[in-house]
Amino acid sequence: MGPKVLIVGGGPAGSACGITTARAGLETIVFEKGGPDRDKVCGDGILPKAQKYLDSLNLYEKVKKRGIEVQKIVTYIGNSKPIVVEIPVINLQRSVFDKLMRDKVRSFGGKLLYNSNISSVKISSGGVLIEDSNQNSYKGDVLVLSTGARVHLARKLGFSFSKENVGVAMRGYMSNNLRLDHCLVYFSKDMDSFGWILPCPGNVLNVGLGSLGPKNSLKNLFETFAQNTVKEISGNSEFISKPEGYPLRIGLRKGDYVSDRVLIAGENIDCVWDLLGVGIGNAIETGIVAGDVIIKSKFPYSKEQLSTYENVIKKRMGKTHKGFSSARNFLKSSLGRYLFIKLSTSSVRARKSLAKIMGGDLQPDNLFSLRGLLKNL
Ligand SMILES: Cc1cc2nc3c(=O)[nH]c(=O)nc-3n(C[C@H](O)[C@H](O)[C@H](O)COP(=O)(O)OP(=O)(O)OC[C@H]3O[C@@H](n4cnc5c(N)ncnc54)[C@H](O)[C@@H]3O)c2cc1C
Repeated sequence: MGPKVLIVGGGPAGSACGITTARAGLETIVFEKGGPDRDKVCGDGILPKAQKYLDSLNLYEKVKKRGIEVQKIVTYIGNSKPIVVEIPVINLQRSVFDKLMRDKVRSFGGKLLYNSNISSVKISSGGVLIEDSNQNSYKGDVLVLSTGARVHLARKLGFSFSKENVGVAMRGYMSNNLRLDHCLVYFSKDMDSFGWILPCPGNVLNVGLGSLGPKNSLKNLFETFAQNTVKEISGNSEFISKPEGYPLRIGLRKGDYVSDRVLIAGENIDCVWDLLGVGIGNAIETGIVAGDVIIKSKFPYSKEQLSTYENVIKKRMGKTHKGFSSARNFLKSSLGRYLFIKLSTSSVRARKSLAKIMGGDLQPDNLFSLRGLLKNL
């Protein structure tokens, strides 16, 4: 008999892991504290890297059908001219998107337990024992923690986290009165915050603001953005949902990713790219790799065996994460910012490189460095 895989958290990372292990015939249970339509505070933008992984999970067409596909992102840095990047982005509310992923776990025979808030996790030589807040307990052989930016369960198992990598973002929905048909992104000149306006299904706009730098007041920044830029773009729309905030874990974790019988995935390993605040594709990738490593590992799922997961993720993602952090620093310098804006508003080649970087197909230093800029002249 194969192992029993317990996955806590039914977001993109947990579901991608569940699809991978269930598809391979492993007994899989995903525990999700919300109900089937649980929402996640997000910009709802599914970029090319995420689309590629959705395709590998046979979900791309379904997601595309339910979402809105837009063909460009228009970016401003401070008062710069617009930087128009042609890139396919699918916008879809997370309440719908996450459910499509969880349903896929089920389609391969995996179990999904909704309203199952896991509060206790114990690991022993005999296996994994978890308990939800209603005192229901479950036994398994290997545990995946994919609880997103909330890392309390991983902490309980001895994984340590620094506060350094945590940003925060806020979003709400309003009517798309003026029928905006592309994504808009506005970076502050200091590159520490960025606002977005994204058209979503149901003729609504996802309006949000993320702060990745020193703690400015997110609420104040968000209100200023909503009162000025957003009012103009939305044709004076009002919020139809109360704007909500949520943390973002950025830049790829430096500490351990595994311990005996345990793997942590998605935002538990700080999978969000710096600069762009994008994490769905990375979360899916970590979930798939975690699932693959579980499939190839054997009892007793020791830390040594599972460490392949950490090695693969660091090898595949390390350089890009570092590149995005360096890119933000590059744009913080007035010279770097000036040269980048000048080139990306005048050179088709530079904008093509930017599209590839945003899509995860090119390392950020190919543009966000003096050498990179020269290559794109
Ligand atoms: C405002 C904002 C805007 C963003 N915009 C974008 C964007 O446009 N595009 C993009 O690619 N990324 C975006 N991100 C990042 C993206 O949302 C995350 O990186 C991604 O959701 C991480 O996936 P995950 O599976 O690791 O975690 P999550 O999506 O957070 O999923 C974790 C799941 O675990 C469940 N859970 C937590 N604790 C428990 C528990 N104890 N028991 C059971 N279940 C539990 C939660 O309910 C949740 O469903 C944004 C983030 C924020 C905050």
